[in-house]
Amino acid sequence: MSTMKCIVKARPEVGGLVFEEREIPKPGFGEILIKNRATAICGTDLHIYNWDPWSQGRVKLPCIIGHEFGGDVVEVGPGVKHVKVGDFVTGEGHITCGFCRNCRMGDGHVCESWKGIGYDTDGCFREYLVHPEMNTWINDADLDPAMAAIQDPLGNAIHTVFAADCVANRVAVFGLGPVGMLAVAVLKAIGAAEIFAVGRRNQYRLDKARELGAQHVIGSAATDPVEYIMDHTGGKGVDVVLELSGNPRAVQDGLHSLRMGGDLVLIGTSNEKSTIDLAKDVVFRALHIHGVTGRKLWHTWYKMKGLLASGNLNVEPIITHKLPFADYEKGFELMNSGNCGKVVLEF
Ligand SMILES: [Zn+2]
Ligand SMILES: [Zn+2]
Repeated sequence: MSTMKCIVKARPEVGGLVFEEREIPKPGFGEILIKNRATAICGTDLHIYNWDPWSQGRVKLPCIIGHEFGGDVVEVGPGVKHVKVGDFVTGEGHITCGFCRNCRMGDGHVCESWKGIGYDTDGCFREYLVHPEMNTWINDADLDPAMAAIQDPLGNAIHTVFAADCVANRVAVFGLGPVGMLAVAVLKAIGAAEIFAVGRRNQYRLDKARELGAQHVIGSAATDPVEYIMDHTGGKGVDVVLELSGNPRAVQDGLHSLRMGGDLVLIGTSNEKSTIDLAKDVVFRALHIHGVTGRKLWHTWYKMKGLLASGNLNVEPIITHKLPFADYEKGFELMNSGNCGKVVLEF
């Protein structure tokens, strides 16, 4: 077998995906060849599927999309030193240069010239992919392949939760997409005092948040989240807000749900700009605002390994659908409906 099946974003339109045969690539210097076991659909893939303004400005077509995967190493290229044939691996999807100021200071997540697989370069929605050894994470051999594949968004959630002090504190999570749901699970695992989960109106995801351990579940289309949170915190507000929706309204509500001196952690993005009254809402209330992107390399990955090993982290309810790789259109329809957690495509 010298060819493989791939999912290619071929046309600049909603959908626009084709199922294509391509040559299996050869690993170059410092690269490994991975035979995929499972791959998951990310919100980023959905942006590209729906061909939104971000995708139009970023993705050059045709492009094999996808960046969340787990698979087995079947070949190593010259110069590969640590990863071996047979290792069960996941790739960090942000390929860093290793040489810029931030990379050399141990802050690879803010590499000055990072590239994302599945949008800047060809991604992982294919049977085989090459990946740099230095951007590879070796999984425990018995880790569930679907679990291995969702470490990218789980890592986003862990990076977000660890950006502020959430242990034994009251935390509100705004935005209940997959990363928001994962953040609820992580907060539960590390012992947040009380978790307020705020979604818009999708009952499926509000119910999931409760199943994952949120004590308070708020549908903001029907209930004012600021009022609710103030009512349930003695009028003081929560210690930490994690904002994962990017919605300007949710950013405002998050800001107004915080206690004096609290922490606002932002990872959600939007095509709309948010307006903040800095003097009134931030300076005089001595708030801390943190921007979070990607996963810390490699702090987040070690924390994730530790959390998974602890037995306290229950993310299984978030893997709601497992489909055969060829059924990807069904996967994207599910993602667009919002009636799902993580959708995994299996090989
Ligand atoms: Zn992702
Ligand atoms: Zn760099």
